[in-house]
Amino acid sequence: MKMIQDFNFKGIKTIVRVDFNVPLDKKTFEVTDDTRIRGALPTIRKIISDGGSVILMSHLGRPEGRMEKYSLKPVLPVLEKHLGQKVLFADDCLGESAAAMAAALKPGEVLLLENVRFYPEEEGKPVLPENVTEEEKKAAKAEMKAKQKELAKKLASYAEVYVNDAFGTAHRAHGTTAVIADYFPKDKIMFGFLINSELAAMDRVLNNAQHPFTAIMGGAKVSDKILLIENLLNRVDNLIIGGGMTYTFIKAQGGKIGKSLCEEDKLDLALKILEKAKEKNVRLYLPVDSLNGDRFDNEAATKITAADAVDDGWLGMDIGEKTIELFSDVIKNSKTILWNGPMGVFEMEKFSKGTTAIAKAIADATSKGAFSLIGGGDSVAAINKNKLADKVSYVSTGGGAMLEYMEGKKLPGIVAIRGE
Ligand code: AMP
Repeated sequence: MKMIQDFNFKGIKTIVRVDFNVPLDKKTFEVTDDTRIRGALPTIRKIISDGGSVILMSHLGRPEGRMEKYSLKPVLPVLEKHLGQKVLFADDCLGESAAAMAAALKPGEVLLLENVRFYPEEEGKPVLPENVTEEEKKAAKAEMKAKQKELAKKLASYAEVYVNDAFGTAHRAHGTTAVIADYFPKDKIMFGFLINSELAAMDRVLNNAQHPFTAIMGGAKVSDKILLIENLLNRVDNLIIGGGMTYTFIKAQGGKIGKSLCEEDKLDLALKILEKAKEKNVRLYLPVDSLNGDRFDNEAATKITAADAVDDGWLGMDIGEKTIELFSDVIKNSKTILWNGPMGVFEMEKFSKGTTAIAKAIADATSKGAFSLIGGGDSVAAINKNKLADKVSYVSTGGGAMLEYMEGKKLPGIVAIRGE
């Protein structure tokens, strides 16, 4: 597999799939968080400083056909500011002007193509009317797949080299994230720096972890995290569970959880996880106390109880002080830490203390030499809110993609370049 750092892009046109799916201000359409744009800069800079030219393609949002509010135009000034140079913009990606602009691109120049999802074939899923027969469904799917190949082939014709640096969409088998790689020779496709560092961080945790290895899982539901938990039970020394999913585990063991979040159909699964952890000698830590609210509101009355003694009518909204101490101790004695999901309803100030404390404990452990990987939109938001991003080892840019990779799944965007 070719590595971007070893490749000389001099005089070469390269098409790069980036993840510029950035949040925009609803009124002004200005980019409100440019983390993803900054993530793609090392790859773009490497190509232009070698003397190559760059064609950038990305999606933004989930448009249905061409919709101006999903235009990538607002990205342009931000990108120009970071690169310190003019960036060309094609207001389409398959039309004649896009092809002509790509063909005319000179060494050192950068061209941004309009949102690739303005074409439904990028995602490759047919939009079907109701009441279609199975036959019709099959035919529509096949037609869409053929169109997806055409899109990939057309975009591939703009360049000699394909680089995928869009980690956030690596779990999607889309035209520009996976299919396009088939239209280049094997020695002309590679990952960009962002995907390489994401893979290195995840592989270090999954396959090369120093022990003790602690995984901290939080967030709303057990069902979203079950595959990851199962995969991690084969690897970790400690598994900390917090957040909304706590209460399914507590109820499964006969505890009282009041009105707390609970997945009634996952009680057996929770017991199985507890059993499996024992079998594998994984120490599984659940909250010992719980900060409860009398309603799901920042203005709620609050009360701390044992985590298995939440009063009727109350809901567990955050971990309590004793739990913060317990979890922090485990984290501080770890050499590898993976964190996915908040410890409570951290969007509400009153219930954000547990999540903040865990973020700080992870930063502390990192300063003492632990390797820490943070993934999932909400834990990343908590790290950023507490200005701790440069105090942990790696903050992943891909929520869903990271989750799937860590579950042990093959990501189409990764397989397309690296093989199985
Ligand atoms: P996830 O996307 O699964 O990581 O879940 C994140 C969401 O879980 C956040 O919006 C939190 O507010 C929510 N959450 C965390 N703890 C609780 C809790 N105790 N009760 C209800 N929701 C929670």
